[in-house]
Amino acid sequence: MTVANGREFLSIPGPTNIPDAVLQAMHRPAIDIYSGDMVELTRTLLEDLPALFRTSGRAFIYAANGHGGWEAAVSNVLSRGETVLVLESGVFAVGWGDMARMLGVKVEVLRGDWQRAVDPAAVAQRLAADTAREIKAILVVQVDTASGVVNDIPAIRRAIDSADHPALLMVDCVASLGCMPFEMDAWKVDVTMSGSQKGLMTPPGLAFVAANDRALAAHQKADLRTRYWDWTFRMGEVHYQKYGGTPPQHLLFALRQALDMLQAEGLPRAARRHGLLAEATRRAVARWAEGEALAFNITKPAERSNSVTTVLTPGRDPRPLLDYCRTHCGVVVGVGIGELSGKAFRIAHMGHVNAPMMFGVLGAIEMGLASLGIPHGSAGVQAAVDYLAREVRPQG
Ligand SMILES: *Cc1c(COP(=O)(O)O)cnc(C)c1O
Repeated sequence: MTVANGREFLSIPGPTNIPDAVLQAMHRPAIDIYSGDMVELTRTLLEDLPALFRTSGRAFIYAANGHGGWEAAVSNVLSRGETVLVLESGVFAVGWGDMARMLGVKVEVLRGDWQRAVDPAAVAQRLAADTAREIKAILVVQVDTASGVVNDIPAIRRAIDSADHPALLMVDCVASLGCMPFEMDAWKVDVTMSGSQKGLMTPPGLAFVAANDRALAAHQKADLRTRYWDWTFRMGEVHYQKYGGTPPQHLLFALRQALDMLQAEGLPRAARRHGLLAEATRRAVARWAEGEALAFNITKPAERSNSVTTVLTPGRDPRPLLDYCRTHCGVVVGVGIGELSGKAFRIAHMGHVNAPMMFGVLGAIEMGLASLGIPHGSAGVQAAVDYLAREVRPQG
């Protein structure tokens, strides 16, 4: 028997739920790519994206997934043989570094702990030792979607400044833009990249890169530039140059609608919503963890992200639980990836999510734990409800 019939609910950390209004925005014919609405759409997107990154710098839009955004970022500011320092805190910064290595960059990884955020003191120490100033850029993620960590980008900036090091600070905020505060200019981030399909509630296929003046200056000397990714080409006056070819129109229609929704909510309120739903999730997980079969991957509460919660299942394959949630309840919960493959599951609370969606996911997981006889503290969902009932008041 199952109770899965009905709308299947996707609770993986990307792609995330696409709002109906965003889906509907795509349901229209292609339009002229040389004039009128298309040119106007590009104008508003290139105006609004820097505001989303909180920068007065420039933004670029690519028909690409996040990996494309990584390549765009690296190839526009670096040259063959230069060195970058990757700050490990899970899968993604290291993946970005692997891509840089294939492009011909020397990559040094500052090893991290999968259960902790990047240690700013270790960054300061490594940079202070780089007396020859060989490190040209630092690659780090704000949220690592595998480990569930959020890194303290302002603290990493302070570490760079304490060593008085000129390296560019390059941040991946694919899993945090629109979910958690990000302040590109205030935090002196030089290059930021993101993607459409996580906090931005849009189908996969668009990558965004933002660059400040320091990044644009580095761009002048970078020899990894290629025509498709090249910022100079994309800054040209002719409209098709903004996309290096035909604009991915329908994804742009979708993005416009998603940005309108995000602007209507306001970034601070969106961040607060994510914080509340994430904490509600953590309250449930904390309760379940009392049974000692589950545990938070990120050990320090302040380092747990508001976009995704990674839950360890020590000594137990999480597959039967995830299968149960999917086939018996209609909820797709994220698998562990990288080092945590077969050892964890991930609950997404990112993008177009609200209280009933999270109660549904948490309820299905709790039902699975009970039905499969996996030891757990009970009333996790109740703990989530109680927390939100206290925090979400009729006035406020
Ligand atoms: C999802 C993700 C990526 C990769 O994005 P793709 O669209 O799958 O290429 C990169 N960085 C982070 C932090 C992510 O969560």
